[in-house]
Amino acid sequence: MTTFLDTPQQASRWCQRQRDSGKSLGYVPTMGALHEGHLSLVRRSVSENDVTCVSIFVNPLQFDNPGDLDSYPRSMESDLAMLQEAECDMAYTGDLETFFPDQSSTLDNSASLEPVNQRGLEADYRPGHLEGVKAIVERLFATVGQCRAYFGEKDFQQTLLVKDLANRHGEIDVVVCSTVREASGLAMSSRNRRLSTAALELASCLYQALVEADNAWRQGQRNPLRLEQLMQEKLDRPGIEIEYATVRDPRNWTVDTPTQLGDSAQALIAAYIDGVRLIDNLALGSNGLSKG
Ligand code: AMP
Repeated sequence: MTTFLDTPQQASRWCQRQRDSGKSLGYVPTMGALHEGHLSLVRRSVSENDVTCVSIFVNPLQFDNPGDLDSYPRSMESDLAMLQEAECDMAYTGDLETFFPDQSSTLDNSASLEPVNQRGLEADYRPGHLEGVKAIVERLFATVGQCRAYFGEKDFQQTLLVKDLANRHGEIDVVVCSTVREASGLAMSSRNRRLSTAALELASCLYQALVEADNAWRQGQRNPLRLEQLMQEKLDRPGIEIEYATVRDPRNWTVDTPTQLGDSAQALIAAYIDGVRLIDNLALGSNGLSKG
């Protein structure tokens, strides 16, 4: 039975009670509109911890575009049914005021991001987005306390940021989980609900572009500009507006494309289709392309 709590304060007490009774806690932060990608994180947490909790909160601070926030899908009832089915022990939500009771009237997301690994790409194309993520994740970590926290590799720059926050927090172990995909290869995303059938089909080009870069990498291609060009050629279709299709060294993140690559590379794409912003990425040469 999933316990549902509607303030972070209640959730915090629940988590503390679990730890007091000696139980290990797994935690999955989400913005709801749950799909198999989210559920893969929940199932992994259930298998690795005594109890699992999930937060559902559409964080206004991380939306750089008000239209995107308004049209973000919300489906609390079916989310709770899915969490029940996945054997999640507790789910909680709250509103901006209950998450930030001490500063709700002055809240902004202008806190600067110091580490270089949080700069470039998402930081450039969605000004304020990562700062908004940082503000809420700090608060979510403070709410839940000591736990293993599960995040999807799909939001690659977010994983860099949360690992840094967890290091500073000291009591959170971040577990990064691979991306769950549709049969077409399209990364599952709550935003996919806003795509027409034709747009959904077109959106699988993001996956195809990553496959193209992956194939070239496996054949020895190490020139970042050539890898970018291969992805851009795949994405060069009417209806796809590319923001970036690029590569970074995940162990040595640089704001701009590196001039050369060592033994690891992350291909990353952001593009608009039908007015919906989609992101995807892949560790080249890994086995991250399997579909859900
Ligand atoms: P969101 O609700 O979009 O904020 O996502 C909540 C968590 O689920 C984040 O850690 C995401 O990276 C993760 N996630 C979203 N989509 C997927 C996916 N297709 N596969 C794996 N994890 C995902």
